[in-house]
Amino acid sequence: MPQPRADKRLLASIHDVGPGSERQVEQLFGMLEARLGGPRFAMLVVPDHWSQHPLRENPAFQAKLRAWSDAGIEMFVHGWFHRDTATHSGAAQFKAKHMTAGEGEFLGLDEATALQRMQDGKALIEDVIGRETAGFIAPAWLYGDGAHAALAKAGFALAEDHWKVWNPASGAVLAKGPVITWASRSRMRTASSLAFSAIARQALPFTRTVRIAVHPGDVTKTSLLASIDATLRCFATTHQPSRYAEINDLKA
Ligand SMILES: [Zn+2]
Repeated sequence: MPQPRADKRLLASIHDVGPGSERQVEQLFGMLEARLGGPRFAMLVVPDHWSQHPLRENPAFQAKLRAWSDAGIEMFVHGWFHRDTATHSGAAQFKAKHMTAGEGEFLGLDEATALQRMQDGKALIEDVIGRETAGFIAPAWLYGDGAHAALAKAGFALAEDHWKVWNPASGAVLAKGPVITWASRSRMRTASSLAFSAIARQALPFTRTVRIAVHPGDVTKTSLLASIDATLRCFATTHQPSRYAEINDLKA
């Protein structure tokens, strides 16, 4: 197997980590660890997914999260409830309805509410893992104006959306390019995500930073697992599996 180039980086992550997704996360963990040669990826933690899976009240899962963090997994704050409970109008309403299936929690929040949830999530997860979180990533990668304003004040080192990774304090863009991800919630979305990842495997080997994001629902379809596996194998040969923190001193 050829050695990946040290100046090209692969940033992989497991989304929607919490007590309610433990089994699926463990399956994805095994897959990423095997393909990336160790725990060289991130987890996006939801403090209370859909108000049904509070991390605060689950010491067993807290211990697991801390062990993963101790092993080197970077932990991001990924919203609080994940679900979008706000009402939207105009362009935000279109985005919320068509792009997120109601999972864009931070799309419609005002600045004060967004900041409170960011700070609460940061405090909770840092208390659990005993170290700083790596950053904040909004559910469905969707940020409204309130979320952007709050991010500048919340003290996170990193944030990302569909197209880039940036430093919220300075605004500096640290990596550019689409994130490769899969959709399990409908046959059509699954098909288009399979097609996109196949194109990405052809088109992105020359991109400096490649991001791959997997979700608990991906384990429900063998076609998705096969595509994820092929994509991980592909980029692990051209890009160095890296920590997000390592790109903080690189240019996009
Ligand atoms: Zn998510």
